Amino acid sequence: MNVHEYQAKGLFREFGVAVPEGQLATTPEEAERAAKALGTAVVVVKAQVHAGGRGKGGGVKLAQSASEAKTAASEILGMTLHTPQTPPEGKLVRKVYVEAGSNIEKEYYLAILFDRAAEKFAIVASTEGGMEIEIVAENSPDKILTTLVDPNVGLRDYQIRDLGFQLGFDKGQVAKFVPFVRGLFDLYLEKDCSQVEINPLVLTAEGDLLALDGKLNFDDSALYRHPEIAELRDPEEEDERERAANEIDLAYVGLDGNIGCMVNGAGLAMATLDMIHYCGGKPANFLDAGGGADKEKVKEAFKLILRDENVKAILVNIFGGIVRCDLIAEGVVAAADDLGVEVPLVVRLQGTKSVEGRAILAESNLNITSAETLKEAGELAVAAVKGAA
Ligand code: GDP
Ligand code: MN
Repeated sequence: MNVHEYQAKGLFREFGVAVPEGQLATTPEEAERAAKALGTAVVVVKAQVHAGGRGKGGGVKLAQSASEAKTAASEILGMTLHTPQTPPEGKLVRKVYVEAGSNIEKEYYLAILFDRAAEKFAIVASTEGGMEIEIVAENSPDKILTTLVDPNVGLRDYQIRDLGFQLGFDKGQVAKFVPFVRGLFDLYLEKDCSQVEINPLVLTAEGDLLALDGKLNFDDSALYRHPEIAELRDPEEEDERERAANEIDLAYVGLDGNIGCMVNGAGLAMATLDMIHYCGGKPANFLDAGGGADKEKVKEAFKLILRDENVKAILVNIFGGIVRCDLIAEGVVAAADDLGVEVPLVVRLQGTKSVEGRAILAESNLNITSAETLKEAGELAVAAVKGAA
């Protein structure tokens, strides 16, 4: 789960990570009042959407007075922001964060994530802040500093000091960097974050270290431990199809191909995507209907798949372990009937009651092709799409 910058900064503050003062606003008048309350010579008005690159897209504006802040907010609120990280249709801005301006001396990059290969936490930092870190990594990988933290030992102060000196900080700056990184690391661990990113972390003319931007991702599987974090969810920011899937407990990820997939089990779903690629096709989605998929679930899954206009064929690949294939087959037939599915269906049922399941499919008068093996299913689905084109 992602949260907004202003929410991330609220958590930063709680954990002693220095951030500028700021207030949320949903109208230009509120932004004006916020700027007045902050009382600084410069304020920054920032679009709150779940996407980075806002600065370049016109979603971050400096204002020299409260009335300028009002104007900036009226320009940003209601705009559809396009950045390299927004979906093709852009993102509607519903709120802005009004923040005290900072005198930036230098911009840095700082992130914490999990390095699965090393089985350690990784603190990633760079003197090349403010720009896209992927580009820095590509052009000058030596500018990316990584500190690995063993979960059994924890983060040691000397590691932070060492990283600070590598970034070129002097003794006084390092003394501020230590509690900054410590707070961020505590937040990362305590709240079960999957990633924390600050770009830019800035050194101000006054000698302060401040997080000017803040991105936080949380591990969805750990959200049950943090109801206060789950509350920060903003459904308006989430992919509409993924949200609908979430509500009915289906794991769904939209992709850009044309073969809709309905599979039970994430591993089988991944294998199905691979097989489609192997057979020369492109999947329209990843969909794990879960181990306990029943008739209703199957129907909901079909609805979700068919919302995608690109879908030209559907591949159902079910392994009957906990589920019974005959019940799935009934679900498929009922869903195809009810929803008036017009695209060709390729169905592979294996496992418990698969023979009965296939008989149910054969008896229906729908455009359903049964497949025995995964390879056959992939080939049939790809052929169905080619036939439709
Ligand atoms: P992003 O573009 O979505 O990553 O949004 P950021 O929060 O990183 O803001 C974009 C850029 O605006 C930053 O990299 C800064 O250069 C600039 N910026 C943000 N806050 C301030 C500020 O207080 N003062 C000045 N001068 N620039 C700022
Ligand atoms: Mn940024």
